[in-house]
Amino acid sequence: MAEPIYRRVLLKVSGEALMGGREFGIDLDTVERIASEVKAATELGVEVCLVVGGGNIFRGLSMAAKGMERASADYMGMLATVMNALAVQNSLESIGAKTRVMSAIEMQEVCEPYIRRRAMRHLEKGRVVIFAAGTGNPFFTTDTGAALRAAEMGCEALFKGTQVDGIYSADPKKDPNAERYDRISYRDILTKDLQVMDQAAVSLTRENGIPIVVFSLKDGIVGALTGQGKFTTVE
Ligand code: UDP
Repeated sequence: MAEPIYRRVLLKVSGEALMGGREFGIDLDTVERIASEVKAATELGVEVCLVVGGGNIFRGLSMAAKGMERASADYMGMLATVMNALAVQNSLESIGAKTRVMSAIEMQEVCEPYIRRRAMRHLEKGRVVIFAAGTGNPFFTTDTGAALRAAEMGCEALFKGTQVDGIYSADPKKDPNAERYDRISYRDILTKDLQVMDQAAVSLTRENGIPIVVFSLKDGIVGALTGQGKFTTVE
């Protein structure tokens, strides 16, 4: 079996990826597929941190655009990520993976609070740690939360699971001439304004020398982890 290139990674999955074919919310079959990908990664011996977005349920910015106070709307968005984290945890545990959900906003009856050193211990014991509630602060995103946790946990790479097999110069679904990159620099992502992760997340990974690996959730994470699949590395 192919060896993984990394020993500890953070996987970021957007909330929308959990919708499957639905317009809103959580599609359990899709969550199960993502959970089995995560389990496959752990079976390679990789320690996996997971950050799930909340856009399938609630996005602070869109509610703020309709007149809601941004900070309150963002707290609602963070709560949405906790719901998604619990759904993913449930699917992971149903297939035998050991997990912990750690929230940046304390809610002890539901999950553990985020404590960095405790999260490290969970990873060392082979548990998948699902980081919920983003950074715990409004005006941020789960992309930035993912970059922050990846740096705190000493992850060797940040994996971003998407609908396409890497980064393109334009949306390949709309532009047939879009160019696909195998590798690209952080700088090019920022200057070309490519929509990979938000700018704060890209800056944070750049400052900490954490490569971003963009791969297709449909193709699966194992190919990207072993360097054999199709993906784009930002470094
Ligand atoms: N959010 C926040 N602070 C964070 C992370 C998330 O305020 O550190 C809120 C924000 O309102 C955001 C929502 O949670 O719109 C859902 O997160 P995000 O949009 O990053 O989810 P994704 O696009 O990945 O599904």
